[in-house]
Amino acid sequence: MAYQHIQIDYEKCTTPYACKKCLQICPQAVFAVLNVKTEKFKETDQNQPGSFKLTVAFGDKCTVCHDCVEACPVKALRVTYE
Ligand code: SF4
Ligand code: SF4
Repeated sequence: MAYQHIQIDYEKCTTPYACKKCLQICPQAVFAVLNVKTEKFKETDQNQPGSFKLTVAFGDKCTVCHDCVEACPVKALRVTYE
């Protein structure tokens, strides 16, 4: 059975919380951003690479429209259906 593959290049997508372009454009709300570096009593710096990580939360909802691929300023996304 064919299904969606969403690949995120983490070498390119380093500050997803500051960017969020794919999250905002995706009509299916497939993506989520996780805070992976929390420090007590300190707000996480969204511009610090590696503080947040983009993840695929609802990959099965993806319609392979490629809006996110086109919106990404650093070409970090690849979406295929196979
Ligand atoms: S291809 Fe379309 S539906 Fe799939 S994650 Fe990207 S924007 Fe969302
Ligand atoms: S649009 Fe690209 S750089 Fe921006 S959060 Fe999404 S994958 Fe990362």
